[in-house]
Amino acid sequence: ETEFSFNVKDEEHTKKLGAVLARIMPAFSRRVKRAACVFLEGDLGAGKTTLSRGFIRALGYDGLVKSPTYTLVEPYQIEDLNIFHFDLYRLLDPEELEFMGVRDYFAKIGVCLVEWPEKACGLLPEPDVTVTLSYADGTRNAVINVKALNKEELNEFEKL
Ligand code: ADP
Ligand code: MG
Repeated sequence: ETEFSFNVKDEEHTKKLGAVLARIMPAFSRRVKRAACVFLEGDLGAGKTTLSRGFIRALGYDGLVKSPTYTLVEPYQIEDLNIFHFDLYRLLDPEELEFMGVRDYFAKIGVCLVEWPEKACGLLPEPDVTVTLSYADGTRNAVINVKALNKEELNEFEKL
């Protein structure tokens, strides 16, 4: 397990962090032959959706990336990748995740980005990467917790 933290100076930098994750997580998914699981933690307005936008755009999707606040999940098919962007803020009953069939989402090649993962009360797989964003004097701080990346994948973070 590796943990590192740094300042994220503005919205563009948050998107860049998403773009860096977009270079790492699809390759990781192909390597382990299941979806990569990324937890996005932090208060309302911390930048979780902004990061997700940067991630999805960096993969070449040029449509609208909306916040899945009411739908709980927004799927994107980008070439061979299945991207699922979750926002579980309004999840009332974690069992709803089972009815949605999320188990299948995590079996595909692709990436699951999960805002408010704590609302799932443990009904999701363990994250491969957790990004925690917090307010810092008009900017944000990011703490990145990595469980399962190899050295080459970790090196991508140097580009931030
Ligand atoms: P969340 O999904 O965590 O609730 P959003 O991404 O919807 O948050 O909103 C984050 C807000 O903070 C946006 O208004 C965005 O412009 C701003 N923001 C994002 N990243 C940064 C940053 N690094 N520094 C300052 N403001 C940021
Ligand atoms: Mg959000």
